[in-house]
Parts: sequence; C-alpha cells; structure tokens
Amino acid sequence: MTNRVFNFAAGPAALPLSVLERARDEMLDYAGNGLSVLEMSHRSRQFEAILERAEAGLRQHLAIPDDYAVLFLQGGASLQFAMVPMNLYVEGRPVDVIHTGAWTGKAIEELEKLAPYRVIASTEAEKFRRLPRLDEIVVHDDASYVYMASNNTIYGTQWRVFPDTGAVPLVADMSSDILSRAIDVARFGLIFAGAQKNLGPAGLTIVIVRKDLVERGSERLPAMLQYRTHVKHRSLYNTPPCFAIYIMGLVMDWIAAEGGLAVIERRNDAKAQLLYDAIDSSGLFYCPVEKESRSRMNVIFRVRGDNVELEDRFVREARAAGLIELKGHRSVGGLRASIYNAQPIAGVQALVDFMQEFESRYG
Ligand code: PMP
Repeated sequence: MTNRVFNFAAGPAALPLSVLERARDEMLDYAGNGLSVLEMSHRSRQFEAILERAEAGLRQHLAIPDDYAVLFLQGGASLQFAMVPMNLYVEGRPVDVIHTGAWTGKAIEELEKLAPYRVIASTEAEKFRRLPRLDEIVVHDDASYVYMASNNTIYGTQWRVFPDTGAVPLVADMSSDILSRAIDVARFGLIFAGAQKNLGPAGLTIVIVRKDLVERGSERLPAMLQYRTHVKHRSLYNTPPCFAIYIMGLVMDWIAAEGGLAVIERRNDAKAQLLYDAIDSSGLFYCPVEKESRSRMNVIFRVRGDNVELEDRFVREARAAGLIELKGHRSVGGLRASIYNAQPIAGVQALVDFMQEFESRYG
C-alpha cells in the first residue's frame, strides 16, 4: 500500500483501510456463498444477516434504546429535509428551527413548502462563525418539533451540549458527526445522517426515530415517504442500498475492533486539538470559528488576510504532497480539513507538518 493519499474530503470521505481490504477480500465470494454482496438478493438469508449486523453494530455503539427504530433509506440527508416535516409536523403546531448554516438553510427551504416554522435562533448575522448559546434559544411549547444540525460541515461548528427541548421532540441532522462521539439518543425524537462521512459509502441514509413519532405521519403520504412503511418492513419495503449497508456493517466492526466509540471519541479529540493548536499558534493561518463552537470533524482555516492566491497554492502543494481535498466549500472559500473517524492521527500529523513547512516558505 504505497500510493494511498491522506484524504480530507468532507464526504464521501476516507474509509478505514482495513474495511476496504476486507471488502476487497470478500468481493468475489462473500463468506463462502460463491457470490458477491453486489449480486446478492436483498431477500436472501445472507443479506438479512448483513442488514441485522449493521443495525446491531449501530445500536451497540450509540446505545440506541429499544423504543427507537433504525432505518436504512436512500435519497440522502437532503430527502430528510422534506421527510421530517412531512411525517412529524402536526397541524397548527409550527416547527422551531435553529439556523446555523447552509444545511439548516436547505432544510428551511423545504419547510417553506411543507409546514409553518419559526426560526428560534440563528447566527446568520455573524456569518455562522459560532453557534447560538443555550440561553439564546427559547423553544415554544406548542412546536411540532425543534430542528437543528449537530455539526455544520461547511462552517466548521459543532454542538457540545444540546438544547433542552423538554417535551418537544428534538430532531437533529447528524450527517457530519454521527458516531464520532457518544450521545444520549433518548434526548432526540429523530436523528438522521447521510452515511458518506462516518458510517460508510454514499447512497445510504440512516434514520433513528422514536417509534411513537412514526405514527404522526399521514397514511396518505406516498409509501416511500412514510417512516411507517420502512419501520413496518424493516427497511426492506423495496431494494435497499445493499452494498452500502454491507460496508457500513464492516465500519461498525472496525469501531468495535478499535476499542469502541469511547476510543474513537478520544482519538477525534486528540486529532482536532493537534490541528487547532497548530492553526492557533501559526503566524500564517487562522481559524475564523469561535473557540467554543469549533467542530472536531470539519476544521475550517484560512491564510491571514484571506489571501486566496496563497490558499490556492496551499491546496495545490498539499495535493502534490499526498494531502488531498483541503479546499473549503465553494460557498465560503478558504481551507477545510475534514477529519472524520477514519482519518488517522498520522494524517493530521502529516497535515500539521506540511502547514509548518509551507509557513516556513511563505509565512
Ligand atoms: N446535512 C449535512 C450536515 C451535510 O454535511 C450534508 C452533505 N454534506 C447534507 C446534509 C446533505 O447530504 P446528502 O448529500 O446526503 O443529501
């Protein structure tokens, strides 16, 4: 394995090497069945076992209570921007939204078409460089649910402590930090996440939903758009993204083999600390995000003076040095290193070393 790069992409993102190797080894003949998972009926016993294993792994790592269903869906996290209000909005009870960036913005665009809503907190006026403080958030008792994103992939912010929404269900888009740390699932009514960052390949979306909330959805919704359908059919109403589910199962095994989520979380803390320390102590780079709001998954940084030319040079030279996808999101520019679970400490160390070397030449 000599030509593997360190991949800092925001998603699809790096996967653990051992997962890729295992998928390669099992590609032509899965567990002695004489066929690939890619060719396997989703109604077969073997595939049912694959699905059960992926779900059991996720349930174990996140300690998901029994009154929550885990769904394996398609349509990306973006479809959930619509499915959530379609299923959880209750007539006459507006949705409360905490607006913290481009992805909550996309969710608001869908709410605009589907349900009345109120933005109860927003940091848009501060260019989303921080998260609202808990005392800035007032939840309405009559809200259908409160909507938020736990980690803002583009602006590089992440909630440490979640708002207390009392009896009002909290719905979180956890696409870019699910399974990066322990969370208390019971604090949420519904969690969703595209798989392509911490869970596995693109094409799979995970929904974790409290079962009583599933009954809110109208039975007149198209079958595919009702959570009820997927709960009832255990994510096998139609053909699910079988291979992506299989890879997610391997990622769940990898987390267990690494020592569990607590070990992953400690490693994520150490990686983020290493990178933010390097940025904060640099004379060339800086981080525009407020300290208390900084994400441990997506580290946003810039060259001082927002020197776009030097940032482009950094991205180019880093790529030539085997450190790829360090460009910030096209909507905000700058630089971004996504350091999800599968990014090894060695990758972050290589980035820090490269930043220091770059600074010695251009700083
Ligand atoms: N929410 C967040 C926080 C994201 O980072 C992304 C994608 N980067 C999405 C939603 C959209 O996900 P998808 O492309 O799976 O629809």
